[in-house]
Amino acid sequence: MTDAPEVSFEFFPPKSLEASFRLWDTVQVLAPLAPRFVSVTYGAGGTTRELTRDAVGTLHKHTGLDVAAHLTCVNATREETLAIANGFADAGVNQIVALRGDPPKDSGGFTPHPDGFANSAELVEALAETGRFTIRVGAYPDPHPDAPYEGADIDWLKRKIDAGAHEAITQFFFETEAFYRFRDRCEKAGIDAPIVPGIMPIENWAGIKRFAKACGAYIPAWLDDAFAKAERDGRADLLATSLCTEMCTELLESGVEKLHFYTLNKPELTRDVCAALGVKPEARLEHVA
Ligand code: FAD
Repeated sequence: MTDAPEVSFEFFPPKSLEASFRLWDTVQVLAPLAPRFVSVTYGAGGTTRELTRDAVGTLHKHTGLDVAAHLTCVNATREETLAIANGFADAGVNQIVALRGDPPKDSGGFTPHPDGFANSAELVEALAETGRFTIRVGAYPDPHPDAPYEGADIDWLKRKIDAGAHEAITQFFFETEAFYRFRDRCEKAGIDAPIVPGIMPIENWAGIKRFAKACGAYIPAWLDDAFAKAERDGRADLLATSLCTEMCTELLESGVEKLHFYTLNKPELTRDVCAALGVKPEARLEHVA
């Protein structure tokens, strides 16, 4: 039996009143699991700048949880991006997930702002120079769609860690082998920062499959078949919980100690998987949200 992992949870900023209530419900369910931190994404194309800031500020002020703000290079000058980061630090939020970011839909790929950060390594370097942040970055066990050659994701992660990042969180993946291969290659490349697996509980297979195609996560045929059958039998929830628990258990048995859950602001699956992994609720955190 492995020890229970340390967990963190990712949310996206709500765009409506109803969505705000859903986020708050999600936080209420997951906060008692004493996450290492919770993080709030930054919309593709920089579209949720204010919403991210507001959600980060509210979570920090009202829950007492450690909050990490995602920040991207898209569509902003260096000064604007650093001003946002410094605003977080001034408000007491000292953790950043630093990303190049995805461009707006149909824009044909990432083009740096003429006065902006050209890439994620430049952003990490500038954030590290301030000395104000714990910096996390993205990592890609399955090849990122923009990887120019085989192994580029490892070289690029090394650049980001060398630029001052403290930890990496992976894109989600469906087969543990992809993570193990990536971890081994990172170790060989001299990357000694922790690499935390990003876990995507599969709430809705059709939606997650679209998402996986867009971000380059490999979709195994057996998984597609399994969900087709489970959906026919009305047992997709059961399959999602058992597959996710099994994958996390395998990762823990391979020496992983920390897991980062993409919650999509829906807490039930993440809560059930955490319970199965032995992550116990703490009474003192039951009323923080
Ligand atoms: P990078 O590491 O900068 O680049 C990704 C890959 O592209 C590299 O591994 C490398 O193979 C190649 N590459 C990039 N630049 C170069 C270069 N100059 N030379 C050679 N190769 C290069 N997106 C959002 O918009 N908002 C979010 O809040 C958000 N949160 C995320 C959280 C996590 C944990 C992860 C893993 C991803 C998140 N994303 C988010 C998605 C992310 O923005 C996209 O995957 C984006 O396309 C790459 O950003 P990055 O900083 O991870 O990439």
